[in-house]
Amino acid sequence: KITVKGLRKSFGTNEVLKGIDVEIREGEVVCVIGPSGSGKSTLLRCLNKLEEISDGHVIVDGFDVTDPKVDINEVRRHVGMVFQHFNLFPHMSVMENIMLAPVELKKATKDEAKAQALKLLARVGLQEKANARPASLSGGQKQRVAIARALAMNPGIMLFDEATSALDPEMVGEVLQVIRDLAAEGMTMVLVTHEMGFAKEIGDRVVFMADGVVCESGKPADLFGNPQQARTKEFLSKVL
Ligand code: ATP
Ligand code: MG
Repeated sequence: KITVKGLRKSFGTNEVLKGIDVEIREGEVVCVIGPSGSGKSTLLRCLNKLEEISDGHVIVDGFDVTDPKVDINEVRRHVGMVFQHFNLFPHMSVMENIMLAPVELKKATKDEAKAQALKLLARVGLQEKANARPASLSGGQKQRVAIARALAMNPGIMLFDEATSALDPEMVGEVLQVIRDLAAEGMTMVLVTHEMGFAKEIGDRVVFMADGVVCESGKPADLFGNPQQARTKEFLSKVL
């Protein structure tokens, strides 16, 4: 569960998040949509403190990430993140990429991490790529490895920032399927996405951001079918 209260974030004099209040309940899938520059990635990065928070609170599974006493590594163990550009380590095999965090953070022995990595690879349909280098994989395969790597810490929450935006169209489906499977298993997820059809299908709730605020949020059928705010209508008329 994530509670965001009055979250503000500035870069220098540029206030990018202007007081965000959002709650993501256990097992809920929340899709964040909105125009470029509206602050979607910044919001996601504040949730696991990849960005310093200027004001307000972000509470993840009971840990206030804004509290300097809270161990941020502990918080990050609860929250897996997948980025647009995979960010795999090129000099390591697929297996080594997946095993790295659990072994480094002493969450598992090497043997345990290996066994788990193989299971995760099976889950994303890539057992046969265990010893491959990232450079030899397709974009869709790389992104599935990145998802497996994030899952290796057994996070209760997964964050996805445009996980399919850098992919060739024919690879989008395989990555969306992995995300769909996670949703079916009850994973709590926040997805920033430009795939409106997918947001409609998978989201329990859709949050529309514009200019650093949550302009409107609701069930996908309501937000897409009957938007209330002029700003939402304008955005949807361009992307739907
Ligand atoms: P997109 O859909 O294009 O990914 P976004 O909604 O994810 O956009 P953000 O990346 O959160 O938007 O950026 C919001 C604003 O914050 C932009 O004006 C951007 O220039 C600014 N910004 C983001 N990161 C930084 C940074 N590290 N330093 C300075 N400004 C930043
Ligand atoms: Mg972004």
